[in-house]
Amino acid sequence: MEFRDLKKQYTVLKKELDQAMLQVAASGAYINGPAVVQLEKALAEYVGVDYCISCANGTDALSIALKVWGTGPGDAVFVPDFTFFSSAETISGEGASPVFVDVDQRTYNIDCKDLERKIAAVLSEGTLKPKAIIGVDLFGLPASWPELRRIADKYGLLLLEDGAQGFGGTIAVNNVSKRACSFGDISTTSFFPAKPLGCYGDGGAIFTDNREWAALANSIKVHGKGSFKYDNVRLGMNSRLDTLQAAILLVKFCAFVENELESINNAAFTYSQQLAELLQDGNNSIKLLPFVPSGFGSSWAQYTIQLADRSLRDSLQAFLKSKGIPSMVYYPTGMHDQTAFKGLKSYGPCPVTEKLCNTVLSLPIHPYIENNEISLVVDSIKEWLYINK
Ligand SMILES: *Cc1c(COP(=O)(O)O)cnc(C)c1O
Repeated sequence: MEFRDLKKQYTVLKKELDQAMLQVAASGAYINGPAVVQLEKALAEYVGVDYCISCANGTDALSIALKVWGTGPGDAVFVPDFTFFSSAETISGEGASPVFVDVDQRTYNIDCKDLERKIAAVLSEGTLKPKAIIGVDLFGLPASWPELRRIADKYGLLLLEDGAQGFGGTIAVNNVSKRACSFGDISTTSFFPAKPLGCYGDGGAIFTDNREWAALANSIKVHGKGSFKYDNVRLGMNSRLDTLQAAILLVKFCAFVENELESINNAAFTYSQQLAELLQDGNNSIKLLPFVPSGFGSSWAQYTIQLADRSLRDSLQAFLKSKGIPSMVYYPTGMHDQTAFKGLKSYGPCPVTEKLCNTVLSLPIHPYIENNEISLVVDSIKEWLYINK
């Protein structure tokens, strides 16, 4: 069994993908080919924003967003402690200071109460100027964007949505369903192969309704170009999306919209139904199944459960492995505990993150997982629960 079976997806989409890749190879337009513009248009329309700017990866997308806002030394940027390293790495990369915020133990997303505590701590300490909040749509579930917007407005902060894992997620706001990557003042995503919408290498994109910021992002990603490539009006970077990856993404995006998002939601539903049955017996080893708040839709970048403690988590992972079932610990270390961030000033603890690092386990899930594979995982968990009684 594969954790995320990308080869199976290729088998299903082989004809279209092969054709798209060969077409780019034959065209000679390897950089800035027509597929890039086509993809940007399609994604902006789907997400519901005015501008999509493709780039080389999800990490660059975050860096470009922070550069667009002139983020730098003296700026505090609030970011969840429980996330992939990029979300925080890029803040320090601009010379600004990441301030780690704890997460909600049910949604794994930024805890708005702790966010206000951390903002207050930074303000009272007085050396940093609060600049922006990075919300992460972890595991495919959008963060609490209406609440984050309220907090951003209250303190005059910019909102950056790290939608690397969130593409395809939704929140119903006043009965209108809004899509992930439209919630930030700038939003970003990643097309790393294992993300909800992935290519065959690295890729990323930036989304915004702001025309000036879109133009700036377009300049920064091509060496700070002005009116043309050899007129350089600012320092930038080399961060384009390859035509080949854009062509692959156009095929995969169709499959994502037509089948995959629905299939993966069905898989998650099946998992939750079958696992909930196991938990009815009052077994306390498994503490929590994924929680999707009312009005929210997930794109299920991960299906993550919580065990009661570290030894039970490690024991279940080893047991699944012995049955040939892969599982992953996303994430074993909070940002505040990362070696690279040792020495950074703390604005308060993140106890939920510390607990989650010891107790989470992500199970195999992807749009092409079969019901019998899900049953095999669930039956193995059942067997493990029985042994551990
Ligand atoms: C994957 C990921 C990124 C970085 O994306 P890359 O394309 O790998 O650079 C950033 N943030 C989060 C939350 C991610 O999961």
